[in-house]
Amino acid sequence: MTGDERHQALEAVAEEVSACTRCRLHEGRTRAVPGEGDADTEVVFVGEGPGFNEDREGRPFVGRAGALLVQLLASIGWRREDVFITNVVKCRPPGNRDPQPDEIAACAPYLQRQLAVLDPAVVVTLGRYSMATFMPGVRIGQVHGTSQPVDPETGARNALAFAMYHPAAALRTAAIERESYEDIARVPEVLLGARRRREAEPTAPEPTAPEPSTAAHPDAPPPSEIAPSPATVTVAAEDGASDDESQLTLF
Ligand code: URA
Ligand code: SF4
Repeated sequence: MTGDERHQALEAVAEEVSACTRCRLHEGRTRAVPGEGDADTEVVFVGEGPGFNEDREGRPFVGRAGALLVQLLASIGWRREDVFITNVVKCRPPGNRDPQPDEIAACAPYLQRQLAVLDPAVVVTLGRYSMATFMPGVRIGQVHGTSQPVDPETGARNALAFAMYHPAAALRTAAIERESYEDIARVPEVLLGARRRREAEPTAPEPTAPEPSTAAHPDAPPPSEIAPSPATVTVAAEDGASDDESQLTLF
């Protein structure tokens, strides 16, 4: 898939999410929150579900937890636009209650499709509900700051999951905030490890993907900006964000 095709496929998911009535969470939403970010990224952050501010704006992590997430990213030199950010459920649970199992199950196909399009090298889970999707049966106190291979059934064909506490928990507890900074500091190294795995076992091509064109795409960056492995090919965004994307490819 080209960057443009990925972008369009993500837009198609977002449109469906915005009109979705598959679970009861649609009843109380102001706006659905499909997720946002760089369609060419190698790293996807998955939170729990929209809160009050996200529900009003239709964008993920725009409240206080989002501000902390941006600070955590800044501590490793990344910006939110460099990654893709989404949630396990796309509509706000009333009163910010926990999402229920049937709601998570109803919404799962959207996350699955987003991951199938993005084919990330690393999925960073934020909080227990996201972690349960990618690292079933573990406890966050034991696995935060560690990674393990992701089941391709999740949609991420060849990725490492990396567990972090939810930023809202870090806002409540200073020790968790400190550990969150320590945890995120490991993400660049996990990305390197994930790239090595993907080079060793290249991901099977998507069955539905069209033949990749050998001709240079009009939006394609010069070869010097394309990362060496097929798993890490990046395509510059139309707005010329290639300088920023190099943050992810420079380690
Ligand atoms: N908390 C989440 O889990 N997701 C958001 O998008 C915002 C806050
Ligand atoms: Fe649909 Fe997911 Fe919203 Fe439920 S939470 S209505 S499944 S988009």
